[in-house]
Amino acid sequence: MSYVITQSCCNDAICVAVCPVDCIHPTPDEPGYATTDQLYIDPTLCVDCNACAEVCPVSAIRREQELPDALRPYAGINAGYFAAARA
Ligand code: SF4
Ligand code: SF4
Repeated sequence: MSYVITQSCCNDAICVAVCPVDCIHPTPDEPGYATTDQLYIDPTLCVDCNACAEVCPVSAIRREQELPDALRPYAGINAGYFAAARA
């Protein structure tokens, strides 16, 4: 399981600095940051520490198990961002 970034993300990257395993991307120093719709969490690396969710000003980060139905597609959207990057 993992944490998931959802629709209300405003790309301020506050969460990037607190993640202990650097699994939130794109970061402000990566090429895709300027054009991305939102940031994403790599579910293969996330250690479920909750640090990102505590600092997000818009409550965009949820535990995957606790996603409401309307936001459930974001689990696949987050994972898909990294799958595409590795392809
Ligand atoms: S802290 Fe929240 S709003 Fe900011 S980039 Fe992270 S998920 Fe998006
Ligand atoms: S829950 Fe922890 S490990 Fe997972 S993305 Fe958030 S800060 Fe990183």
